[in-house]
Amino acid sequence: MVEKINASDAMLKVMEAWGIDHIFGLPGGSFDSTMNALHNRQKTMRYIQVRHEEVGTLAAAGEAKVTGKIAAAFGSAGPGAVHLLNGLYDAKYDNVPMLALVGQVATNMMNTDYFQEMNENPMFADVAVYNRTVMTAAQMPAVVDQAIQQAYKHNGVAVVTIPTDLGWQAIDDNFEPTANLFQQGHYPLPRTTDITDALKLIKAAKHPIIYFGQGAKAAGQQIGALSEKLKMPMMSSALAKGIIADQNPAYMVSAGRVATKPGVDLAKAADLILFVGSNYEFGAYFFKPDAKFIQIDIDATKIGHRHHVDVGILADAKTALQALLDASQAVETPTDFYQAAMANKANWEDWKAGFTESDQVPMRVEPVFKAINEMANDDAIFNLDVGNVSIDGVRFLDMHPGQKMTLSAWYATMGCAVPAAIGTQTAFPDRQVWSISGDGGFTMVMQDIITQAKYQMPIINVVLSNDSFGFIEAEQDDKGQPHSGVAIQGADYGAVATALGAQGFTVHNLTELKTAFAAAKIAKGPVVIDVKIANERPLPVEQLVIDPETQDPQAVEAFIKKYHAQGLIPFRAILEQYEA
Ligand code: FAD
Repeated sequence: MVEKINASDAMLKVMEAWGIDHIFGLPGGSFDSTMNALHNRQKTMRYIQVRHEEVGTLAAAGEAKVTGKIAAAFGSAGPGAVHLLNGLYDAKYDNVPMLALVGQVATNMMNTDYFQEMNENPMFADVAVYNRTVMTAAQMPAVVDQAIQQAYKHNGVAVVTIPTDLGWQAIDDNFEPTANLFQQGHYPLPRTTDITDALKLIKAAKHPIIYFGQGAKAAGQQIGALSEKLKMPMMSSALAKGIIADQNPAYMVSAGRVATKPGVDLAKAADLILFVGSNYEFGAYFFKPDAKFIQIDIDATKIGHRHHVDVGILADAKTALQALLDASQAVETPTDFYQAAMANKANWEDWKAGFTESDQVPMRVEPVFKAINEMANDDAIFNLDVGNVSIDGVRFLDMHPGQKMTLSAWYATMGCAVPAAIGTQTAFPDRQVWSISGDGGFTMVMQDIITQAKYQMPIINVVLSNDSFGFIEAEQDDKGQPHSGVAIQGADYGAVATALGAQGFTVHNLTELKTAFAAAKIAKGPVVIDVKIANERPLPVEQLVIDPETQDPQAVEAFIKKYHAQGLIPFRAILEQYEA
């Protein structure tokens, strides 16, 4: 005779079979059967209580970004369901698998305009790759199994809505999850003709570069080797930071606003771009329209999506790059362009280093990142928030491949760092985890420092407080607008954090900074370091490219006067020196 099990318990069993061993959320009446199952199965499925459902989905998104595996969150009917949305969109935009369980009123109350009842499926239609309401208790395990398959297949969000009475019903305990059968990651091999054509184009180019995105995260070794072999300088999307060590002299980081000067310079100078595993959306502003373009992607719909493509290679990044490595002949002598790119990076690094010891009050951000870099473990996970802090983090974190970074990169939702730190710390309790936010992002989610305290998560939360929505303030400056709605009321976030159960510090100068970091180094639970920084705009590297052929000579002159005096040299001048 088949054993019986409550449908909600059976559903959790399926999730466990897929390797899910915890879930973030906040209980509600319409989710009581699943809460009961979470209690029953607490040895195999850990419930992490967050203080806002959005924090739960952002935590799960952050976790999935780092693990590459599905993460789970839940909310109850009505407000709980609505609160899930932001984190679900973050997962969707950054292409990570997530399972969201959503409560619903009991079936006999559905469609009667009952308390907290809403028609949930239409709300999730845009965000989800799978979006179903369970209809019978017996199908609950199968629906969740399918939901997980779909989330993995499409690297997206699966939503399962559960009328709560169904979860209480006893069903046969004989469902077989498909977790062990599920296959992923078999991609076509690159065509030999494409590899030959690509190498011909690279050989003919004067200024060839490698541009990579997060799709190349398993191919760091091949990217570095190809760069070295063919003397092609490298750059990436902001999101792909960490795949190649920041200290590699031929890696320029990113182009755009969340970017570095050598990154912008390199994108603008390239006459051939080997574009690997990226969907970088701002290329039209930086790549030359007539640059040759070789694109490697596993998704045929992405090839040619952002730029005209001369050779498209439908294949996995690692395999395709290895094929290029195997079929290519080494360029023995570093080219002028390669050397100039490295000299430009060295100039940028020197310029940055000039600020790391600054004792300015209110503080500059460089000494803060110096302290972070000095304290960061080799396997540290940095969760960056959205805003000026995204720019600072991408510029000043000194990362290498053992470390990881999360950002709400495409959806760009503020308040992502504290939740992502909760998610990544839960997935990797033995690794050092950071959240690095501005005061705007931090105050959107700071209540969940209490969650970090409840579970004694040793997360180091750094808050860069400038009393402004600085990223938007700079946009208003660029558009010649008056500052409108960007000034924010400050607070003593160190004191707030202490009140919430963390170790809180509010820092105004270098001495206080050092004391706070020394304490963070030995802390066993969460630490919040609120650093009062000057409201200074990060260097607008996207506006610093010098091209006398297209720019007015006065602009060129103005750059030289302003930045050359500080030691920053226009790339054009460096390149001319090498190519003379
Ligand atoms: P995705 O967009 O996820 O693309 C990955 C690609 O790789 C996809 O096409 C996918 O099909 C493919 N792929 C997946 N797996 C493989 C595989 N195995 N092999 C081959 N291909 C694969 N970024 C910048 O660079 N500059 C900026 O100025 C900038 N400004 C930003 C401003 C803010 C406020 C924020 C929050 C973010 C900003 N970003 C910026 C981030 C940016 O918006 C993009 O989200 C990000 O850079 C895109 O990263 P990606 O192309 O690496 O990843």
